[in-house]
Amino acid sequence: MNTGAALGLFGGTFDPIHSAHLRMAQAFRSELSLDEVRLIPAGQPYHREHGPHASPVQRLEMVRLAIADLPGLAVDEREIHRHKPAYTIDTLEEIRAEIGPERPLWWLIGGDSLAKLHTWHRWEDLFALANIAVALRPGFNETRLPLAVRTQWQQRQVTDFSNGAPSGTMRPLALPPLDVSATAIRQRLQSGADTGTLLSAPVLAYIRQHKLYL
Ligand code: ATP
Repeated sequence: MNTGAALGLFGGTFDPIHSAHLRMAQAFRSELSLDEVRLIPAGQPYHREHGPHASPVQRLEMVRLAIADLPGLAVDEREIHRHKPAYTIDTLEEIRAEIGPERPLWWLIGGDSLAKLHTWHRWEDLFALANIAVALRPGFNETRLPLAVRTQWQQRQVTDFSNGAPSGTMRPLALPPLDVSATAIRQRLQSGADTGTLLSAPVLAYIRQHKLYL
């Protein structure tokens, strides 16, 4: 028995938030019948060699602008205001404490993040707090996952996801892989190339207004 509809969380640098993030968030919500998906911009991503290019507040503002007209998506600003490295485990512990032990909780990551999951702080504790959905990226190959991650990935997929498990399962999203990254978008912006539909209009306007990624 679980209480409450399933809640989805999607953490990222969002530097800037782009069309693949939005498609992922929407597919995540509809495929898993989630009540709500909360996007969680990271404060100080500890696992990045180079810091983000836009400030935490600017990245938060761009997420707000991007989801303003999209039903079922919300923003959670807690990591932006945390003055220490943003570990996913800390965020999940906080949110789990807020929603109680029974409500199904899903955390969304991309396939490249899955391949690095074993480097996340206390990664094996994540499964006691949430389920994990994975949006596969172009080139994803299960056999290239580090063994510890591949073992979890194979063992935690269940045939019936309607069981409403509060945590502990893993599944891929059926969304076709999207060849879009924030890195490629920053490069396009810097070189003056067109970003087409990769950014939503209010986000592009914000980037221009604040002269970001030049
Ligand atoms: P960067 O190019 O700066 O590394 P990014 O586009 O990968 O950025 P993040 O904000 O770091 O974006 O991504 C947040 C999460 O979304 C990560 O788990 C990442 O793997 C995932 N993600 C981003 N773009 C895609 C995509 N095109 N397909 C699948 N997952 C994606």
